Amino acid sequence: MNPDISPSAGSEPAAYACGPAAGACGQPFCYTDEAFADIRLLRYRVEGFEALSLRQKTLVYHLSEAALWGRDILFDQNGRYNLRIRRLLEAVYTHYRGPRDEEPFRSLAVYLKRVWFSNGIHHHYGGEKLVPGFDPAFLRSEMERLPREALPLAPGETPEELWRELQPVMFDPAVMPMRVNHRDGDDLLLTSACNYYGPDVTQAEAEAFYAARKDSADPHPVMTGLNSRLVRDDGTLRERTWRVGGLYGEAIGKIVESLLAARPFADNAAQQAVIDTLVDYYRTGDLRTFDRYTIQWLEETEGHVDFTNGFTETYGDPLGLKASWEGYVNYTDTEATHRTEVLSSHAQWFEDHSPVDPRFKKAVCRGVSARVVTAAMLGGDLYPSTAIGINLPNSDWVRHEHGSKSVTIGNLTAAYNEAARSSGMDEEFIIDEPTRRLVRTYGDALDDLHTDLHECLGHGSGRLLDGTDPDALRSYSSTIEEARADLFGLYYMADPKLTELGLTPDREAYRAQYYTYLMNGLMTQLVRIEPGHGIEEAHMRNRALIARWVMERAEKSGAAALVVREGKTYLAISDYAALRPLFAELLAEVQRIKSEGDYEAARRLVEQYGVKVDPALHEEMRRRYARLHLSPYKGFINPVYHATRDADGAITDVRIDYTEAYDAQMLRYGRQYRTLPDVNP
Ligand code: ZN
Repeated sequence: MNPDISPSAGSEPAAYACGPAAGACGQPFCYTDEAFADIRLLRYRVEGFEALSLRQKTLVYHLSEAALWGRDILFDQNGRYNLRIRRLLEAVYTHYRGPRDEEPFRSLAVYLKRVWFSNGIHHHYGGEKLVPGFDPAFLRSEMERLPREALPLAPGETPEELWRELQPVMFDPAVMPMRVNHRDGDDLLLTSACNYYGPDVTQAEAEAFYAARKDSADPHPVMTGLNSRLVRDDGTLRERTWRVGGLYGEAIGKIVESLLAARPFADNAAQQAVIDTLVDYYRTGDLRTFDRYTIQWLEETEGHVDFTNGFTETYGDPLGLKASWEGYVNYTDTEATHRTEVLSSHAQWFEDHSPVDPRFKKAVCRGVSARVVTAAMLGGDLYPSTAIGINLPNSDWVRHEHGSKSVTIGNLTAAYNEAARSSGMDEEFIIDEPTRRLVRTYGDALDDLHTDLHECLGHGSGRLLDGTDPDALRSYSSTIEEARADLFGLYYMADPKLTELGLTPDREAYRAQYYTYLMNGLMTQLVRIEPGHGIEEAHMRNRALIARWVMERAEKSGAAALVVREGKTYLAISDYAALRPLFAELLAEVQRIKSEGDYEAARRLVEQYGVKVDPALHEEMRRRYARLHLSPYKGFINPVYHATRDADGAITDVRIDYTEAYDAQMLRYGRQYRTLPDVNP
């Protein structure tokens, strides 16, 4: 989604991440792989790949290539030293001849693995700078052993100058401490390390630059600023557009080649047109062409294989304008798709019965297509950490007039669930055995249903009042939007209509979701936050906001409470039915804020409920969690597709291979999909 522009959606990280027990399983396919720092790597099984036709396999192959070619772009977007630091560390990692399982090399390896995972030197989720666990002197001395051609030197630069430049960026906590800073009152550009604006461009300048370019009379406004870096050039602010022949042109050229290779194998003529328009956009950088591409893409629903590829989500820009690059390939999971079809075919019923003010409802709710898909390749900002649901495009008017395409990714959710089963989280954090039984019985199914409601209906519901500036909520926009979609799901979860539609097994099942959602928002998600930090990430802010707002009221009425037993805090819910009206009340208020563009109310709500952390509870959660030896974050190793070709170069078969190790994959990607120079000014 685009936090400042759209009422939409985007990539949802797993809501309730738990970890598997450590250790490889010894099976030919294993869901869990290695763990380091706060991360565990999983594998996803591309169910049904062998059953695809050769044509479909070939299409998946070429689109997967297109999804991998943009990897360097994201590293550079996340910070202007990232590519150089990654390449320097990779050179040391590859050339090192000392003992690999001893310090300090072991810590260097962990740091590099984290940099790979984060696509840069800041934490992929919290955004804080990663702290290397080794001494700068070690890296400096290893650097001296490297052949000069292995060093990521800028033109004319000496190794000494390179070191002087990179050393504080990596090791000084005061330099570039946050990738995206959202702190109220700061200059968000000067204090953020992301590379979407020149280093000297201020927030006020950038806001003025884009305010002047906005045509409020245009009923079909483009997403201004989406695909460029804003820099100062001879004293004048100018956009450097990401396109063939422009900034990142080397990478985009390779993406275009792979898209054109995929084109003859497309599922239908409409999909070929989608590829043509996307290529046109990549060549011109024209944002009207981009809107045209997204409309063609969302209207193409007949193909079995599908993909997204481009500058998509704006979570990484503190102003919410500029989009990180991502690529992703999938195909339809026919059986599971039935569930979301039932929801989307009743979209109007849900819109009509929602508890929001009728002025903020859509008279005609349309274009909500919903599919469950099998991920075949993850790239850019969806790799290795990824989304389990995606709803695109993000343009407000496109969504309003044409709808959106929404998917949940079944094989990734299955991998998370499989990994979570033996984690011990439920035993530690859920209050008692009856509640654990409730969660065990309904948990997985209700999680899937909540994701479906969030993606298929939540983001697509409601409307802005005429004249409301879609950017009015500014840096609070994405948190408010995610809260809106989550609340829509939570409210309907308990509706008898869902049982009537066969989507919940009985009238009690919703309780499992109410319990785990509130427990996560109040307590367990805190394990992902470093001591002393507040909540930064939009989805986490949204969950805290909802859980605390509802809890404040539920505690007054006696419906729920946080209780302490033997020194441990638990959530106790005594009256589940009393929670639903609270979700309804908050949904109505959040929709009002969105529809009216009430910035002040958004700011108050988010700052009061979504940001601050109770230090004592935080410490307790981290202590209890640490004892489980779990990893709060998960990500995925991609499969490898091996293509066999005939004498003319035509693909005759594509085999899938799940055995590549994490470091081998990352090093291979670094070599094989190396497109950008070390410095991209
Ligand atoms: Zn969402």
